[in-house]
Amino acid sequence: RTSRRADGPVVYTSSMDEGRAERVELLADLRGALDGDELSLHFQPKLDLASGLVTSVESLVRWEHPRLGRLAPDLFVPLAESTALIDPFTHHLLGKALHQCRTWQDQGIDLSVAVNLSARNVQDPSLPERVAAALARAGVPASRLTLEMTESSLAEDPARTIEVLERLAAIGTTISLDDFGTGYSSLSYLQRLPVQELKIDKSFVRGLEASSSAGDAAVSAALIRSITALKDALGLRVVAEGVEDLHVLERLRELGCDTIQGYVISRPLPADQLDASTFRWHAA
Ligand code: C2E
Ligand code: CA
Ligand code: CA
Ligand code: CA
Repeated sequence: RTSRRADGPVVYTSSMDEGRAERVELLADLRGALDGDELSLHFQPKLDLASGLVTSVESLVRWEHPRLGRLAPDLFVPLAESTALIDPFTHHLLGKALHQCRTWQDQGIDLSVAVNLSARNVQDPSLPERVAAALARAGVPASRLTLEMTESSLAEDPARTIEVLERLAAIGTTISLDDFGTGYSSLSYLQRLPVQELKIDKSFVRGLEASSSAGDAAVSAALIRSITALKDALGLRVVAEGVEDLHVLERLRELGCDTIQGYVISRPLPADQLDASTFRWHAA
């Protein structure tokens, strides 16, 4: 059986059904993975340009599927997000991230940890209490936790989401807006959000690379400058993610970014592979 949309290619319905069956199976596997040890976290340093120190790391989930091998988060996180599984999924990973943060704390390593939240998580009115409980269980102060969420999380029910964010900020966690610049929001609404950090999306950082056209470079630079121009007035820190080379790092410094994240500093790594030299990274 095939079907054809007016503007699209031929779609094979049978393979669509197969795709659907695959997703249902993967979702069941993911549900099971929450009880086992197939899910782990990698951590990627965020480098503070002023001090040259790594003061925080972002946690990124990895799934070692017993049959399919290592699966990319872009494949299974959206799957979890499409169902209520995203709730236990996020809380499972939050617990893991805070446990690691506590381990570093006990070793005298001063690191904050960032955890990614999905739109659905930040619409949950019980999120602030659950975050507070997880912090208490791990014995980690709220000031050590950053919660990253995308602008698109605000699309559905902004009033409700802002209330959840305000309560999270009141606990003392840091709120970070991820993939900034890719949504539909304007800069003016930032004034109403309890956000302390903006992460400029990788696509704008790409634009600064030598291989980009002059036009892309100009647009990226102008966008980044417009964000950093407002950072003091808005009390925000600006992070650039996806930074792969030193030339781009220096350009981002000139453009007013405070923090750099990307392969130029380190790939995301298991906690035991992040060593002291990573934490004292200095640009040559
Ligand atoms: P994100 O939050 O925007 O994370 C940044 C992604 O960029 C990560 O991909 C990271 O490995 C990658 N990256 C870091 N440095 C560089 C670089 O220099 N160059 C390039 N090209 N890429 C770089 P990853 O780990 O595959 O995660 C993809 C997305 O999956 C994340 O995007 C996030 O949206 C989601 N995700 C990952 N872990 C979690 C999690 O624990 N919870 C939730 N809810 N989402 C997660
Ligand atoms: Ca993120
Ligand atoms: Ca991002
Ligand atoms: Ca992303």
